[in-house]
Amino acid sequence: MDTHKNDLASLSTRTLLARRRRLADRLGGTERLLAGSLVEQTRRCGKPDCRCAVGERHGPYTYFAPRAAGRGRLQYVPSVLVDVVRVYLHTGGEVEAAVAEISAINAELLARRELR
Ligand SMILES: [Zn+2]
Repeated sequence: MDTHKNDLASLSTRTLLARRRRLADRLGGTERLLAGSLVEQTRRCGKPDCRCAVGERHGPYTYFAPRAAGRGRLQYVPSVLVDVVRVYLHTGGEVEAAVAEISAINAELLARRELR
């Protein structure tokens, strides 16, 4: 999956097409994915007499930061779902890598005028 664009140029068209097929197969039916990251943050609860007002904050809590959204769009992740989100994020990364490589292969095929 870590093939460089330069490496692709050294492969035969037949090999490129086979690799593209394998990558596309890997994508088939993939729906359990997320694009973004997990972040941990501590919080103040707002109660003026709470320990967090002067010192130790609550948490850390885990939040999902979607890739596309801007700042301040963190979504709290209940602890029972943290591992599930991690798996989704991992899958999202693999899908992105596969899409990037398929695109690189297709760019190489285009350069060879063998894109069809
Ligand atoms: Zn507090």
